[in-house]
Amino acid sequence: MNFNTACIHAGVEPEPVTGAIMTPIFQTSTYVQPELGVHKGYEYTRTNNPTRAVLQNALAALEGARFGLCFATGMAATDALVSSLKAGDHMLCCDDVYGGTYRLLKNVRAQHGIQSCFVDFSDLALVEKSIRPETRWIWIESPTNPTLKVIDIRAVVEIGHKRGIRVAVDNTFMTPYFQRPFELGADLVMHSCTKYLNGHSDVVMGCLITNHEDLYEQLKFIQNAAGGVPSPFDCFLVLRGLKTLAVRMQRHQENAFDVANFLIARKEVRRVSYPGLRSHPQYELAKRQASGFGGMVSFELAGGLEAARAFAGALKVFALAESLGGVESLCDHPAIMTHASVPRELREKLGITDGLIRLSVGIESADDLTADLAQALDSIR
Ligand SMILES: *Cc1c(COP(=O)(O)O)cnc(C)c1O
Repeated sequence: MNFNTACIHAGVEPEPVTGAIMTPIFQTSTYVQPELGVHKGYEYTRTNNPTRAVLQNALAALEGARFGLCFATGMAATDALVSSLKAGDHMLCCDDVYGGTYRLLKNVRAQHGIQSCFVDFSDLALVEKSIRPETRWIWIESPTNPTLKVIDIRAVVEIGHKRGIRVAVDNTFMTPYFQRPFELGADLVMHSCTKYLNGHSDVVMGCLITNHEDLYEQLKFIQNAAGGVPSPFDCFLVLRGLKTLAVRMQRHQENAFDVANFLIARKEVRRVSYPGLRSHPQYELAKRQASGFGGMVSFELAGGLEAARAFAGALKVFALAESLGGVESLCDHPAIMTHASVPRELREKLGITDGLIRLSVGIESADDLTADLAQALDSIR
């Protein structure tokens, strides 16, 4: 099935009792059992819910995998995987991961004996060298956030698999529309469904997807035991969002190209990072590994923090807000907003400078977006 068709149909069947074409919101906590020990597959909504079950199937189908599990947020999904580790186990992560992933591992799970380290995955020799006897998982985010570095997923998978280590990919930025981690050998895909999958900035949710039955059973046990599940209503909203994923991603990318090309030509802008630009250091890899480049663009203002303040304050169409992946365009200042929990020295090493701006390019008219950026850049003194 073509991906455009899959977005609308994959994993979704008409509701069996009424034939409702759209999956209803099963807003119930429990299910009546006809007799002792007999039920229809549903006992309690933390364990299972029909709206969530359909969404989990749809998400797995879109990634081309067998099993999906949804969680209350992206971080709850990541934490479910981390919860499958034991004290002393080690996770090897790429260095500019999502700030919340860093915070979870370093400030929360480290207290429970989970070790983690963060290294530059564009250096494959360093990845290999950083593996320890206790390493259980390798965690990739590509393109990275917010500097949009592209990591060679297949190469990292080969390094991990040679030693029996499983590899997870946070595919939030690309979505399965552009990037298919399972085809590159990954063992697990994580999403913040909050972003492009839902696409309308009205839900927080996360998911884990895999083909390994043993891993699925373990994570499903944790999903029920720890209980970080999303509401049936939010599952309904993400199911609705998925139907337009393909058309939205296509438009996000078209607009991102226009915005990136516009920014390159401006004197206030020092460096534009978009994997679809030939000037991007991993352009060839990005082209080979994915079918597109996404809707995120980051750039550095030559005038540093002062310029960033003036620029952010002058925007009218772009909203100054955390998050990304919705239909509306957003502007983020990583050093003060999304990545404030990353220590300053590490931020500087990663290129998260005070002049760095990250744009989530929405699906408005590209002319309106570039006009807004132009007037905001003009306002910098
Ligand atoms: C937002 C985000 C997360 C965390 O997801 P939440 O839904 O906010 O908990 C993880 N990874 C990436 C790349 C993200 O953008």
